[in-house]
Amino acid sequence: MKSRPVNKRPGIRRRVQLYLVAFVAFVILLLWLCQIVWLDDIYRWDKTRHIQSASHSVAQNLASPRLDRLMEHYASRNDMCIILLDDQGETICSSSDSRSCLIHRMSTQNLNDWCELAPEDGSVLLELFNVQISENINLHSYNGYVPPIESGEHQSLLCASRVTLPSGEPAFLLLNTIITPLDTTVSTLRLQLMVISVVVLTGAALMARFIAHRVTLPIIETNEAARALAHGQYDPPERGSSYREMAELNATLSHAAHELAKVDHLQHELIANISHDLRTPLTMIGGYAEVMRDIPGEANPENMQIIIDETNRLTSLVSELLDFSRLQTGHTAMEIAPFCLTDSVRSIVQRVAKLTENDGYVVRFDPTEAVHVTADEKRISQVVYNLIGNALTYTGKDRTVTLTQERKNGSVRISVIDSGKGIAPDELPLIWNRYYRTHESHKRAVIGSGLGLSIVQSILEKHGAKYGVDSTVGQGSTFWFELAVTDGAP
Ligand code: ADP
Repeated sequence: MKSRPVNKRPGIRRRVQLYLVAFVAFVILLLWLCQIVWLDDIYRWDKTRHIQSASHSVAQNLASPRLDRLMEHYASRNDMCIILLDDQGETICSSSDSRSCLIHRMSTQNLNDWCELAPEDGSVLLELFNVQISENINLHSYNGYVPPIESGEHQSLLCASRVTLPSGEPAFLLLNTIITPLDTTVSTLRLQLMVISVVVLTGAALMARFIAHRVTLPIIETNEAARALAHGQYDPPERGSSYREMAELNATLSHAAHELAKVDHLQHELIANISHDLRTPLTMIGGYAEVMRDIPGEANPENMQIIIDETNRLTSLVSELLDFSRLQTGHTAMEIAPFCLTDSVRSIVQRVAKLTENDGYVVRFDPTEAVHVTADEKRISQVVYNLIGNALTYTGKDRTVTLTQERKNGSVRISVIDSGKGIAPDELPLIWNRYYRTHESHKRAVIGSGLGLSIVQSILEKHGAKYGVDSTVGQGSTFWFELAVTDGAP
């Protein structure tokens, strides 16, 4: 399915206006239907319901000594007339006569005819017929305003039913009510509704505009800030929205902007670092190669070793960058399997110790037991290498790095301890960041890309391992990580 281009879609402001006005129009339409179109039908239905209910109620109370009061009550309340006749057509009880009553004006013959028509199964007969009502008043013979005469054709509703008197004799109950034409009422209501419709629709349109403006303004502002962010403007103005959701969104946006600014800054730093770190060995290689070419006696093994060392430094820097990028993109699958962590760490320590002992470095690891874990051995070895590498770089005058292994509560903790300058507390949370390097100058001429700890972090997080650093300035640092112990592993 094709979606419409973003800029052709209606905005929130227009939608809010549209929905609000549509809702108000719907309510007005409903009012028109009920108050104008269906008013007459609703009124007739209501009248029919009332006359039926009155008929039932009177029929149920025929034995009551106060039947006349009940009939009077219904008559006055519902504007109707009620007559109870015996089977001879004689009136037993009757409500008082009203001006428009038909049954009080009928001849005995007529009444008997209606009684005969009443159904024998106990239900009621309902009959609607037209009546001519006219008042014999000459309006012109009076001074001032005289209301118009309500004359013309009205409808009258007659209800007849058979009942049984307490004595067991049959009787007839006749009820009658006038159905007043609603033309005048409808025209009044129509006028009223017209005024209400105009006022309410205009009000709704204005209110919709106001609400839409209030609701969408912060969204529009935030959208502009996000757009600016996309164009590299990382300091969106602080906005305090009165809506919780918008305030949260603004806070998230500010946080994202802050993080992006940080990444941007660190990336620039990385490029500067890498270009600097690449230039140094390249200059050395170039310089020594030139000397060896131009001065025959200089092509000795020492100079060649320098070129080899510098090439190795370049290789390690490039592989660190590659490792990091692979870990970040998740292109390398983890090979999780049980292995002996103690043996793995011990062999790394032995190799590193051999490489560095000529420079006077000491790397210690004296585990008391062999502990197995289930993890990616290659990646965990990389973690240990990186931590030992950093410890050797930053360790103090004693040139000693100590590794410990502690087992507790089903997990094993490997710590890499150095006696260097330590890390300032405000820098501690930053060292795990990509490309971060403190401004402290390195003791050894080791290339640091600022990626080592990021790689450590990525690997350990992929394993769901706990990790951290405890450091005291002037005394040294302890980098550690914990893995779950695999019991019974071979
Ligand atoms: P680098 O390649 O620069 O060492 P890392 O990500 O390994 O990058 O480390 C980031 C920063 O953390 C380093 O620049 C250094 O300042 C600090 N750091 C790491 N390990 C230690 C340590 N053992 N002692 C002191 N500082 C350390």
